[in-house]
Amino acid sequence: MRTLMWFRNDLRVDDNPALYDACAHGDVIAVFCLCNRQWRSHDVGDNRFAFLLDSLHALAGDLHGLGIPLRLVTEPWFDGVAGRLVNVAQSVQADALTFNEEYPLNERVRDSRVRRAFEVAGMAVTSHHGGTLQPPGTVLTNAGEPYTVFTPFKRRWLDQCHGSVLDPLPRPRRQRRPAIEDSALPEQTDGVQRDRVAQQWPGGRREAQRRLDDFIDNRAVAYQEDRDFPAIDGTSSLSPYLSVGSISARTCLHAAFQANDGRLHGGNAGLSNWISELIWRDFYRHVTAHFPHVSRGQAFRREFDALPWRHAPGELEAWQAGRTGYPLVDAAMRQLNETGWMHNRLRMVSAMFLSKHLLLDWRLGERYFMEQLVDGDFAANNGGWQWSASTGTDAAPYFRIFNPFTQATRFDPEGTFVRRYVPELAEAPTRAVLNPVKYPVNGYPAPIVDHKMARQRALDSFKALQGG
Ligand code: FAD
Repeated sequence: MRTLMWFRNDLRVDDNPALYDACAHGDVIAVFCLCNRQWRSHDVGDNRFAFLLDSLHALAGDLHGLGIPLRLVTEPWFDGVAGRLVNVAQSVQADALTFNEEYPLNERVRDSRVRRAFEVAGMAVTSHHGGTLQPPGTVLTNAGEPYTVFTPFKRRWLDQCHGSVLDPLPRPRRQRRPAIEDSALPEQTDGVQRDRVAQQWPGGRREAQRRLDDFIDNRAVAYQEDRDFPAIDGTSSLSPYLSVGSISARTCLHAAFQANDGRLHGGNAGLSNWISELIWRDFYRHVTAHFPHVSRGQAFRREFDALPWRHAPGELEAWQAGRTGYPLVDAAMRQLNETGWMHNRLRMVSAMFLSKHLLLDWRLGERYFMEQLVDGDFAANNGGWQWSASTGTDAAPYFRIFNPFTQATRFDPEGTFVRRYVPELAEAPTRAVLNPVKYPVNGYPAPIVDHKMARQRALDSFKALQGG
């Protein structure tokens, strides 16, 4: 039996269920489809394009070591993928296709077309779940419904977390290489050079594993204390690697579980909280799978689609450029613009600022993040934005509106992080960095909106929608 293994967001040879299964049943040819137009239409930006390409090169090296040829298909839109894959399968004389599931709507529509095309061509299709710890449909309420709130989801998730959820699959054994050439991989795609972010984010499993080991050995036990302080390197920075699948969430869970003396919950607070973040990752993937309307750009709680979002392109631009006059928000946005990554606390602060203080549609921010992020991931980004805008599953209640000055005082009390990214404030005294309204600084913009007024405006808009 010869199987065509279609890699998507699972660019790894370790703990890859579809690859492992295919290798156990015969020989394997790998294929990857570059769908640049489609991905651009999903707001995927240059940083992620570059990271994906670099990660694909790393995967090609690993596959070569296993004797698995890699074919590359360049097909601008998902629509054309089914036909192209059938052609590849026929040309390499494969009997079957296999892949790991993706959950956003367009990906699922694409996959059902692919299944049909293979059935028509007389080839079998199998799929696996390699992108979650527990797949969608397996963590349900007693009534058999998907959860819409994280805490009970997590409780159920933990209750049933044993066996294979915790044990990464080994790398498949090297096969005798079939007489099929590898495709040459490009050094650039859609005008983006592969090395664009490689200095900070080198692609591939080795770097992912290095980051995981470094985090578990040196920082995980202090995660609980450090994770909210953007000036501290207190988190794993594994998100780009998890988002393209260079490392599996299960490998991460396993490492944390072992370091926590065989506990998923309790034990060291840092490790158990980090495990919790991996469960959040699953949660948003389940939401994406169970509630397709979020993939259509709709609010999870549809009543909030009627919110009177403002139209203020100048304010949107100021937010994007990091010129709002709120130092923590500005530092956050400049971190995003300069590095393609943003600290989680700051993602919440800046997302809430856009959707509450500026009362601008959260989808504008979701898109801008996606365009910049090296770890852009539909489920986590959409979930995070809807949480921050209070339109989502397990959202912050609408009356909880972060005050960016208070957030700065709590999470960047010396102004260290702000000074790193906002040079206008580099020499300013800490009290001015924390609150330049009270202590204005020459050359730094005045706030584009007054906190008190903005807070009230947001509250009024949400209240009006809820009938007072
Ligand atoms: P760690 O703190 O080390 O966490 C480990 C892993 O757990 C992360 O790599 C990530 O895969 C997962 N994780 C952590 N927090 C969350 C969360 N809240 N939701 C889902 N998964 C989580 N994460 C993305 O991977 N891609 C995105 O596009 C993305 N957009 C976001 C947008 C907003 C508005 C918000 C509030 C959050 C977003 N997140 C996103 C979640 C989170 O901010 C990042 O995963 C995290 O900052 C990545 O840093 P890390 O790898 O050091 O995380």
